[in-house]
Amino acid sequence: MIKSFYPPQRTLMGPGPSDVHPRILAAMARPTIGHLDPLFVNMMDEVKALLQYAFQTKNELTFAVSAPGSAGMECCFVNLLESGDTVIVCQNGVFGGRMKENVERCGATAVMVDDAWGRACDVNKLEDALKAHPEARFVAFVHAETSTGANTDVQAMCEVAHRYDCLTIVDAVTSLGGTPLRVDDWGVDVVYSGTQKCLSCTPGLSPVSFTDAALEIVRNRKTAVQSWFLDLNLLMGYWGSAGTKRTYHHTAPVNALYALHEALVMLQNEGLENAWARHQQHHQALKAGLEALGLDFVVPVGERLPQLNAVRIPKGVDDATVRSLLLQDYQLEIGAGLGVMAGNVWRIGLMGYACRKENVFKCLAALDDVLARLHAPVNHGVAIAAAKAVYG
Ligand SMILES: *Cc1c(COP(=O)(O)O)cnc(C)c1O
Repeated sequence: MIKSFYPPQRTLMGPGPSDVHPRILAAMARPTIGHLDPLFVNMMDEVKALLQYAFQTKNELTFAVSAPGSAGMECCFVNLLESGDTVIVCQNGVFGGRMKENVERCGATAVMVDDAWGRACDVNKLEDALKAHPEARFVAFVHAETSTGANTDVQAMCEVAHRYDCLTIVDAVTSLGGTPLRVDDWGVDVVYSGTQKCLSCTPGLSPVSFTDAALEIVRNRKTAVQSWFLDLNLLMGYWGSAGTKRTYHHTAPVNALYALHEALVMLQNEGLENAWARHQQHHQALKAGLEALGLDFVVPVGERLPQLNAVRIPKGVDDATVRSLLLQDYQLEIGAGLGVMAGNVWRIGLMGYACRKENVFKCLAALDDVLARLHAPVNHGVAIAAAKAVYG
């Protein structure tokens, strides 16, 4: 007989999922009601309003796709692009590469602007590409590149894109709730995110938001959206405007939406600016500790994300050994390197509920211990004091 599954209580300090707050897990266990129940419909309207707050947008079409961040990404591309379109994709890590995949599967052309992994996207390179490709209609890039920890200047990128009459598609999966993001003020036309990073919610939903200008493009398509499930023309009838009658499209993941609602209520209670400041504060303490240990950051100061700390693995230290000891002895998960950085870096997340003082200390103490056992060439016994000095 296969028995019930009881996962251990881990501390999740990788690239996501992050620790889910107990209040959010409790919300998820509340009774399932019908997805067209008037009380549930009302809750969906609240989720929309709370997402507008989280994204800092007044966009009417702001909702959560019933699938993870990758589906939010796909939703944006399949609705906007038609065969023959040209999209400039700025890539500085793994997730920009997925944008290219999406563009090409829509039958569109991706003009790639390659930036160094570990750096923000370069707005000058984008401008050069826009000059060279007047046929481009969209610019796509990742705000918070989770594979490296680099933070791109969204406002500057959008400003240039608009000067060349392009709409912007922005990946904010790891930034939402952790790093300043102002969709309306910064001129973001289309944005998608995820629930399991800085919102500390369970994985499986993807908040998205579209301006009216973007929606015009979707409404005026010559061809039908090739994905029935992600077709905004149909989803709009489901997530419709407040007060309008909902039509059945698919069964909403009812309990997952309770969880997102709770996560967003918590974000609203904390205050968006306070949440951003909290991520920055704990990042500063973790950074001081990691640097005291002797670990170097991949991303230069000024382009770093507080919620994703990528550091180089010291010479002679085996990546997988360290991560498995952290998991075994400390119930602590940190992330491995992705793509070209596999084996060379660790990615230490400070996302949402996981972004707390006790986790900063736990991570530093655990790394110090495990690296000492492996006789790694680092400075032992100084990391915690360095972090404490930041907290004051
Ligand atoms: C995690 C992540 C995604 C994908 O989200 P899933 O929920 O795993 O599908 C996309 N983009 C970035 C930048 C991410 O960090």
